[in-house]
Amino acid sequence: HPTPVSVLGLGGMGTELARALIAKGHPVTVWNRTSARTDQLVELGAARASDPAEAISASPVVIACLLDHQSVRDTFDDHTEHLRGKTLVNLTTTVPGQARELAAWAACHAFDVLDGGIMAVPPMIGGPDAFLLYSGPREAFDRVEPVLAAFGEARYLDADPGRAALYDIALLTGMYGAVAGIIQALALVRAEGQPSAEVAPLLSRWLRGVAAAVGVYAEQIDSRDYAKGTVANLAMQTTGFGHLLDFAESQGVSAELLAPLAELMRRRVAEGHGHEEVTGIVEFLLSKGSTS
Ligand code: NDP
Repeated sequence: HPTPVSVLGLGGMGTELARALIAKGHPVTVWNRTSARTDQLVELGAARASDPAEAISASPVVIACLLDHQSVRDTFDDHTEHLRGKTLVNLTTTVPGQARELAAWAACHAFDVLDGGIMAVPPMIGGPDAFLLYSGPREAFDRVEPVLAAFGEARYLDADPGRAALYDIALLTGMYGAVAGIIQALALVRAEGQPSAEVAPLLSRWLRGVAAAVGVYAEQIDSRDYAKGTVANLAMQTTGFGHLLDFAESQGVSAELLAPLAELMRRRVAEGHGHEEVTGIVEFLLSKGSTS
């Protein structure tokens, strides 16, 4: 069923969201602080709203894709009366506390908020690899899910409004950790005069195997049993990892990205956990606030 949808915020991501909705046949109204950014969507058939109030009034489903939490408050704070009875889907990246604050504010003004985390870059929107995480009232999600499907797989997590933001942050954190390793690997190869492109498919394949271990790591971290299912003990890994970093330094490649990880591994071995998995270093991370 075509559902009128308003999209507020037409940066790189908001523009793709609006485009995906138009492609699915939904009547779309758009607003952006800098109005020139609405032009290409109007050409595709969207209606242009001249201010946030007009955009919110046009549709029962209102999507926000702005820079940050503050820009969401700046855009919506003065227009809560227009949101009454509607569903605001906030696809702006925020932290859990901000998502919960928005939910409490929505409850005061009699509208629903779904908080979403977009696990995609703009060109992936509407394609098979995009998935989006949502939290907030289940009934609101069920009501608007047919609209949200335009963006990619819509995955409902929990009634806790902060859950989608938490998992979004967790996934991005995992990504940046992987980015550090990937850049270090390609730097080593370039330092030896080899083209990165040659090792790239091998590295991709290897990382897919590493990704398969996430479930085992999670079980160890949940159970606090860091020896459970160990296939490569920490003492051995710490020795091997140290050699990798020494090699980097000997090639004139800085080891600064990964050195902190090596240091935590050494400390964990020194404290008698060399027979366990690397996951035990989580204890240092979680106790940091209380010990330092
Ligand atoms: P852009 O920088 O391209 O766009 C930012 C948007 O926010 C613009 O529409 C801008 O308006 C608007 N904006 C900024 N400040 C205000 C304000 N105070 N009041 C009103 N509008 C404001 O960012 P993206 O579109 O890439 O990202 C938007 C959101 O999507 C972010 O939260 C981001 O984390 C999230 N996201 C982005 C991904 C990506 O790969 N791009 C991936 C996953 C999530 P104006 O045009 O007037 O400057």
